[in-house]
Amino acid sequence: MDIKITKVAPEKMKPKPTDESKLGFGQIFTDHFFIIEYETGKGWHNASIEPYRPLTLDPAVMCLHYGQLIFEGMKAYRGKDGSVYLFRPGENIKRMNESAMRLCMQPVEEDLFMDALVKLVTIEKEWIPRGIGTSLYIRPTMIATETALGVHPSNRYLFYIIAGPVGAYYPEGFSPTKIYVSEEYVRAVRGGVGYCKAAGNYAASLYASQKASDMGYTQVLWLDAVERKYVEEVGTSNIFFIVGDELITPPLSGSILPGVTRKSVIQMAQRWGMNVSERPLSMDEIIEAQAKGTLNECFASGTAAIVSPVGQIYYRGKEYIINEGKTGEVTEKLYNEILQIQYGEKEDPFGWRVKISD
Ligand SMILES: *Cc1c(COP(=O)(O)O)cnc(C)c1O
Repeated sequence: MDIKITKVAPEKMKPKPTDESKLGFGQIFTDHFFIIEYETGKGWHNASIEPYRPLTLDPAVMCLHYGQLIFEGMKAYRGKDGSVYLFRPGENIKRMNESAMRLCMQPVEEDLFMDALVKLVTIEKEWIPRGIGTSLYIRPTMIATETALGVHPSNRYLFYIIAGPVGAYYPEGFSPTKIYVSEEYVRAVRGGVGYCKAAGNYAASLYASQKASDMGYTQVLWLDAVERKYVEEVGTSNIFFIVGDELITPPLSGSILPGVTRKSVIQMAQRWGMNVSERPLSMDEIIEAQAKGTLNECFASGTAAIVSPVGQIYYRGKEYIINEGKTGEVTEKLYNEILQIQYGEKEDPFGWRVKISD
């Protein structure tokens, strides 16, 4: 399918941010976006890259009532020589389509999705910041746009991709976070939509996150919804623990988001010869390991930060310190290796990096 490209007139282009240390996250958007429509019987049609603009929606469109709304999160990175890279984009494309299937939405043909990503990022190349750790954050989104209040899968959708420059996550180096174990509230349950990037999951997470934040914690550590015994995720990231010499992350049981970073951490650690387990890990086991002195490291993983060290866990009224509240060695090594692959600073034995522009 052809993508019709309409560029913004040069005099209407937005000023690009000049201070890369003030970019933050998700505040600034580029000049263009990709958009395509779906209608039952017609399929996906009218693919275009056009000037970024507000969407006009009827107040009765289904995404605004019943939550058929999914998204992805990925980044484009600029190497020292100016080359532009994506990191495992095929994984995001597949995951978006899996989210679409689960919410009875419409998958987007993989080649078209990739073509849209490459063309949009190439057009917006000048928006990609240069500093190490900075990037162009890319947000593919799909919404149900049939105007109807009956509960059924929508007959119309919009799929669009927006992008914007984001700052380095660790401009001043790592600072291990304090996390709060939520026993009362859960994020997702097996059999539900926890493995999808579905908007409702994030709405459901806000209350506990706010509680944790009010108590001075950075993130919520989510437990399984049934027994409230096993760790699942932290905030909107996957979770890893190192107990003894075993790197442990919970298995993808349906309530956990299958992170691209999670998968990359597992593959990299396996390549290093580490003992990696995807297995259920209970709070009891974590506390026992902490008491015995074998709870060596804990970190979250996700596209935003790559890895984020955890220095302290609050559970049932007690604080448990990990690695004296300092960033662990393996955590730091994973961060550096993955970052260097993403920015083209190191050879990529996994074939994760996709160069899209010189
Ligand atoms: C996006 C996300 C992750 C991390 O996935 P990545 O592909 O590594 O960015 C983990 N958990 C949740 C709930 C998420 O939304």
